[in-house]
Amino acid sequence: MSICNGVAGNRGRNPIGIFIHNDAGSQNANAAFYRNWLQTHPLENGFAHYYVAQDGILQAEDDSKCAWHCGNLDGNLNYLSIEVCQSMGDLDIFKQNEEKAMQLAAQKCKEYGIVPSTDTIRLHQEVYSTSCPHRSVEIHGGRSVTKAYFIERIKAYMEPPRITKVNASLQANNGADCTRLSIKAVKDGIYKVIDKEHGFMLTAAAGQANANVDFREFDCGDYQLWKLVKKRYKNADYTMLESVATPGLYLSAENNGSGGKNNLKLYTDLHNMKQKFYIREETDGRSLIIHSFSGKCVAAK
Ligand SMILES: [Zn+2]
Repeated sequence: MSICNGVAGNRGRNPIGIFIHNDAGSQNANAAFYRNWLQTHPLENGFAHYYVAQDGILQAEDDSKCAWHCGNLDGNLNYLSIEVCQSMGDLDIFKQNEEKAMQLAAQKCKEYGIVPSTDTIRLHQEVYSTSCPHRSVEIHGGRSVTKAYFIERIKAYMEPPRITKVNASLQANNGADCTRLSIKAVKDGIYKVIDKEHGFMLTAAAGQANANVDFREFDCGDYQLWKLVKKRYKNADYTMLESVATPGLYLSAENNGSGGKNNLKLYTDLHNMKQKFYIREETDGRSLIIHSFSGKCVAAK
């Protein structure tokens, strides 16, 4: 059960936005302080849903209930409220609290489908005669800059972390984009291998035997160049992929492509099936690099 127990009423629907407050509290006005304060003072003095402080985040009221946080009917009824605490104290601690508040706001935006904008991310002083959020406005340089800053930070926390690297492994031949590769000639007999799903390049960055190979977004020079070495054994043609950065090391299928581990590695010439591949062009102009023994494909996965 929440501390404030629905005293300001039920909203009965999702919040449409978030008000960011500063508590005008001292260094001691942390989450533990507010937990006690809210239970020993009349709630008519005002309260917010969340108190974000150095010692943690206190949720004082359920999201589905209202809070008396901004002295404005629409704001109290329709919006969530987050207090950034200790706003009269140490600047670095306040900034850390503010950043945690941005993360919390991002979580709530995702949870309730709120798109951060000037209409949904609000400052107390927009609707009431107050300097709140005084410290944020002071350090960011005014009301509109502070709003823009909050919106940008919240959006950044809502985005998934950017992936720039994935494993190189053998995967079943099922037509997936992570197995469909562009094999681009860079110079005579030397190629880059780029997967369709991510647009990443096959990379042997460690440059030593037994090191994992992966697919990367960023340019790693020779570590992303491969010499396609054509060979013939009895009547079968096959190709080995030699790392240009480390001549004598070849793309190699761990466990020969069977079992749980299907990583691709670099190895010296093993003279066995682990390093034998054939390349098959597909109708979309991309190619599959197929491990001869297992029939599985080189994949960015
Ligand atoms: Zn306020």
